[in-house]
Amino acid sequence: MSSLREECGVFGIWSPNKNGVARQAYYGLYALQHRGQESCGIVVNDEGKFRSFVDAGIVNDVFTSAVMENLGEGNMAIGHVRYGTAGAAGRTNAQPIVVNHVKGRMALANNGSLVNYYELREELELEGKIFHTTGDCEIISYIITKERLKTTTIEEAISRAMDRLVGAYSLVILTPGKMIAVRDPKGFRPLCCGKTEDGSLVVASESCALDAVGAAFERDLQPGEIFIVDEKGPRSNLEHGGKQSCSACVFEYIYFARPDSVIDGASVHEARLRAGAFLALEHPVQADVVVGVPDSGLDAALGFARQSGIPYGLGFIKNKYIGRTFILPGQNVREDKVRIKLNPVSANVKGKRVVLIDDSIIRGTTSARIVKLLREIGATEVHMRISSPPFLNPCYYGTDIESKDALIACKHSIEEIQKIIGVDSLGYLGLDSVKKIAITNPDISFCTACFDGQYPTEEPKITAKHKFESKIEERE
Ligand code: SF4
Repeated sequence: MSSLREECGVFGIWSPNKNGVARQAYYGLYALQHRGQESCGIVVNDEGKFRSFVDAGIVNDVFTSAVMENLGEGNMAIGHVRYGTAGAAGRTNAQPIVVNHVKGRMALANNGSLVNYYELREELELEGKIFHTTGDCEIISYIITKERLKTTTIEEAISRAMDRLVGAYSLVILTPGKMIAVRDPKGFRPLCCGKTEDGSLVVASESCALDAVGAAFERDLQPGEIFIVDEKGPRSNLEHGGKQSCSACVFEYIYFARPDSVIDGASVHEARLRAGAFLALEHPVQADVVVGVPDSGLDAALGFARQSGIPYGLGFIKNKYIGRTFILPGQNVREDKVRIKLNPVSANVKGKRVVLIDDSIIRGTTSARIVKLLREIGATEVHMRISSPPFLNPCYYGTDIESKDALIACKHSIEEIQKIIGVDSLGYLGLDSVKKIAITNPDISFCTACFDGQYPTEEPKITAKHKFESKIEERE
């Protein structure tokens, strides 16, 4: 139950038979809802005519029957669910965005965060560009459209734009005649493609969205790949492929992704089982039951139980109707929030020595409250095991941890954290082990910067998330 948040999920579909692309995008985004609940949007391309709808809220609330009817039919669609790491929440920064430029029209949605966001934005502002949003997506669209003036095809323009973009981006793009998907050269965020029985081609942040629309998984996009689909069929531009070493985000396996997804050839569920098994080997303990913190701690708990021989038990029931961004009205209600989200199952815990598995400890406050819940219903001992190494560094590639100030492991030793959260023992997964949880093809290596500080790119010079919001306020 990490308090980290991922930033977005993207989906795209190209259908030769105009087979319900808006509905398919809706299903795809529904499957990706865990990647962002602040806002969502769909753009439908009907033979070059774009219809779009974006709004704050979750997919089920935003896309009413009336909205879906207005989106109508088309031969392509892209969609987006958002949790904002660059730019404020709400409708203003909802994606996809649609832009008109001298050579045509383009819709674009992004999953990721640019490290050189502020430099690019300042450069564009000094050129006189006017921004309507404060997110990365508008910057990327400006850079692409600038290059488009000098190139004969959109894919050439995208390739040239990629020379300027530093950081994490998985893009879906619509032009009047093409659907294009782009994965940044380091492959930070996942992006895969598949095909339905009727020949529609689908791209999505995670394979669970392909499953949701009945598309068979075909492959992950390579880091640096530009995947183009039009009436000539699918093809790829790999000018940026293989130029840089791959740095796929290992935290996708630990927390961000859905366990039924397969990313870069590795099952997320199996990666979490493996993390639990490694934990049991690294930090053995005498106990009566292993329980996981829902949702992402459950699989690791099962892995720990299988490896250690200690029985697995259901430790908590999670309220299904509370999203990750649930906010209680009023002050000083954080404790209530944990209690409302998670209810311990006393039959499995009372009078027992409990191994409690969670995916991470960020600030320590949530962990302390969960441990307190277990003690209140009669756990005799609580031994906490974390399926990732200590979080020591900010992430610049799409999570909302921007400063070391927020990270408990930066300020306290493991022994101190053990005392702060009130557990009898505490063990984190080792750095070597986390690199082995997702066994994939040998070409994929992982970003582990939040654990070891080895950033795969330059670090951003400015990191204040709402710099451009405050700039607007100052001017007013
Ligand atoms: S710093 Fe951590 S969360 Fe961010 S991309 Fe790298 S592994 Fe993922």
